[in-house]
Amino acid sequence: MQGRNLKKISMAANALLMATLVAGCLWLPRGLAKSTVSDITGALLMLLALLAFGRQGLASTRRLRWFWFLQSAGWGLWLADQMVWIVFDLLLRKPIPSMYPADALLFLAGAPMIAGLLLRPHREPSHTSAQLGLLDFLLLLLWWLYLYVAFVVTWQYPWPNEPTYSRNYDLLSAAQSLLMCGTLLLFLRESQGRWRRFYACFLAAAAFNGIAFYVINHALENGIYFPGSWYDIPYSGSFVLFTAVAMQGRGLSPAPETAADESYNTWMANLAMTAVLSLPIIALTAMLNPRLPQSASHFRTMVTLATMFLMALLLFIQHRRLNRELQCNNVVLEEASLTDPLTGLRNRRYFSATIEGDVAQALRSHADAHDPHTRDLVFYLIDADNFKDINDRYGHDVGDRVLIEMARRISSSIRHSDVLVRWGGEEFLIVSRYTDRREAELLAQRVLSAVADTPFTINEPEEKIHRTCSLGWAPFPWFAQDPRAVSFEEVLSLADRGLQQAKQTGRNRAVGILPSAGKTPATAMAGPHSTTLKVDIMAVAGPDVSC
Ligand code: GH3
Ligand code: MG
Ligand code: MG
Repeated sequence: MQGRNLKKISMAANALLMATLVAGCLWLPRGLAKSTVSDITGALLMLLALLAFGRQGLASTRRLRWFWFLQSAGWGLWLADQMVWIVFDLLLRKPIPSMYPADALLFLAGAPMIAGLLLRPHREPSHTSAQLGLLDFLLLLLWWLYLYVAFVVTWQYPWPNEPTYSRNYDLLSAAQSLLMCGTLLLFLRESQGRWRRFYACFLAAAAFNGIAFYVINHALENGIYFPGSWYDIPYSGSFVLFTAVAMQGRGLSPAPETAADESYNTWMANLAMTAVLSLPIIALTAMLNPRLPQSASHFRTMVTLATMFLMALLLFIQHRRLNRELQCNNVVLEEASLTDPLTGLRNRRYFSATIEGDVAQALRSHADAHDPHTRDLVFYLIDADNFKDINDRYGHDVGDRVLIEMARRISSSIRHSDVLVRWGGEEFLIVSRYTDRREAELLAQRVLSAVADTPFTINEPEEKIHRTCSLGWAPFPWFAQDPRAVSFEEVLSLADRGLQQAKQTGRNRAVGILPSAGKTPATAMAGPHSTTLKVDIMAVAGPDVSC
């Protein structure tokens, strides 16, 4: 309601100011009153446009807010230029001197406006794309300001030359208007719906303003312009169009960037790099051009060097930021490649990457016969019992939830130094490190209890079922006296035999496979190199539950 009222007030104020301007320009006699009406209404129309853009900035967030505020900054500079005209026309009552420093205000007003547009407000970039885009954006902005200093200011101060100054000023201003309209046309073509209407309105205002400005400039150069002449009507009228543009943008929000937007980012990056590369060429031509007065050549070379330094600084900062980001991304990617997405446990890749180190450590500690802390590696292969039933009865999602909970329970029953790996499907592997095979059975019991003791919640409210698991385990090195005789892969397959035996003998149990100590009748089992190992089997039953 408040917004609608403001819109009405703004429209009424615009209409009133325009009517006053038209009346003043057409009917008042040439003189102070005519100039006053024209200059003051022009300034007020600009102020209304500035307020309309600023208001949208306050109501927006993130990149869109930057867009609106940059437009407002442009309007601020434009208004400041108009104030200079007012001072000369109404207070000092004399024309603005040529090559006046305030000329820069009018040119610079366009820079934030185009810069805001190049942010491409109808798209919300990803974080990385925004970071990269910011550098290109700053480089291009710097380049544009540099062109003004190198090609316009050179003829204003170091070597004053009005014709060249005016020609270059007009050329850059025209390029600025064309760039603005070209960018708007590009965005008009690639956007849809409300954004498309917004860009169409913006393009119409920018084109109308560009033509009106060109006509005034032409009249000024031919000495037929004076404040309050009819030329002011279309020029100030274009401010009303811009206010309408700002109103049209109310409530617009950007869409997320898609893969297709990459080409725009690449295009911007290429343009920014071309801008960077153009600098040494400009410096070289300034130095080698025999027609360029020495002070102008010297000034242009110094400005180019200073800009190159700033650009190098920007590139350096960005390079450091990107490097840091790359390193972080690498860590995240590596972590993801070693982690099972469902349970968050380590995966087989992690096992393959770390097992050689664990094996070497175990072999080293066994090599020293006097080491009182001889440490074993024990492999436990765990498999959920009758897991298929859960999927069949409750669906795959419930199966997943049970699997996640089972992983959590097993994880909480091992030590920090042990590693729990999702071996595949509903199978897990514990690599118990720096441990003693004589205590291995205790961990097996803990795992059986952790899974079986507490029922799993299947559905809310409170539908619970008991589940169990089976496991097989075996220690590495297999022979303490000859640690290298049996590889860890062999030991792993012996643990798998233990698991199979646990399944065959009724599930919910752990079966340890150990080298025969000769105290009990040993069992024969296929060992390395097609030999047969004599093994002792240690079976532990899990808690008594009915699934
Ligand atoms: P056993 O006691 O002999 O191990 O019986 P089981 O049903 O557990 O064994 P089987 O190998 O026949 O079936 C394993 C099931 O585990 C089959 C498969 O659908 C299920 N499974 C494997 N991975 C996943 C998973 O990530 N999510 C779910 N929901 N189910 C899985
Ligand atoms: Mg199973
Ligand atoms: Mg299985």
